[in-house]
Amino acid sequence: MNGLKKNMKENKINILIIDDSKLDCMLLADIVKKMKFTPIITHSPAEGIKIIKEKPIDLVLLDVVMEGMSGYDFLDKIFPYIKKKYLPVIFVTGLDSVEYLIEGLEKGAIDYIKKPFAPEELMARIRAALRSKGLYDELVMLNKKLKDMVMKDSLTGLLNHKHIILKLGEQFLYNKEHGTTSLYLMVDIDKFKSINDTYGHLIGDEVLKMLSRIFTDNLKHKGYAGRYGGEEFALILKDVNEESGIKFAKRLINKIRRLTMYSGTDKGIKLHITVSIGLTFFPDQYKDFPEVLKTADEALYKAKEWGRDRIVLYRNGGFEEV
Ligand code: GH3
Ligand code: MG
Ligand code: MG
Repeated sequence: MNGLKKNMKENKINILIIDDSKLDCMLLADIVKKMKFTPIITHSPAEGIKIIKEKPIDLVLLDVVMEGMSGYDFLDKIFPYIKKKYLPVIFVTGLDSVEYLIEGLEKGAIDYIKKPFAPEELMARIRAALRSKGLYDELVMLNKKLKDMVMKDSLTGLLNHKHIILKLGEQFLYNKEHGTTSLYLMVDIDKFKSINDTYGHLIGDEVLKMLSRIFTDNLKHKGYAGRYGGEEFALILKDVNEESGIKFAKRLINKIRRLTMYSGTDKGIKLHITVSIGLTFFPDQYKDFPEVLKTADEALYKAKEWGRDRIVLYRNGGFEEV
């Protein structure tokens, strides 16, 4: 159930009434209350804008002719909200001319009602507008779910193989254009097979999830983390110099070394996890991003070969432990 549907069920719908006539406000508020919704009243359109920015508003009933700011100017000001959040605005007007009605609808109102009106008609229009909003919200939510399903790995919530590579491609071009540098890291859990063999697949899965959380917590908005394959991860740290990039990798490997996890509740055996990391900065040394992938993979292979639980960097045509 989406937010609006849930709120309707729980009578938590907030309807903002903007009208400079106190009498009209009371009349509208009575109708809203009869529908078991919550009226929020203001006589000032400027105040109305503030309320929309601060409170969850599901629908606006808007007078057209007001002192200070007309309903149309108000619509112009809140247009981003109408567009982004599909905030339905019904304008309530005493004006009879067709041009006025057209203007209001063109400026983003979903419907109008002319004064004087039968309360039942307004109620029906409010319900219809909320139905449209409900459908819109559902669509947005499903769209997000779908996007997540396509882009993310279901176990860890990280980007999947295809999408972390897409991000690398994007970042490669971005850095080339801006003359900046980013870091690509390949991280592979050491002897993960033996963790599965000793403690079972479920514990193995928990380890993958825990590491994924460490990656996202450490990257925050500074990059992307993806599950490259089974127990192999790819990380991109955006726009970073060599010193900070290496520091980041060292912090990460140390955090994972310190990480302990109890297997089951019975014996409480501590699992110590280590990872091997292959690193390379891009785009300077590369002609394209697949070369970055290949080189980081080779660096990771070296880290395994040289004893695991270490970081190997590719720089100036050679591999070195850092
Ligand atoms: P190395 O240090 O050389 O990387 O050794 P390793 O054991 O980590 O590497 P190997 O490639 O031999 O084994 C990887 C293991 O990862 C085998 C596989 O069962 C496990 N694995 C892959 N995906 C998952 C998963 O989704 N969940 C769990 N629990 N295990 C997984
Ligand atoms: Mg491994
Ligand atoms: Mg592996």
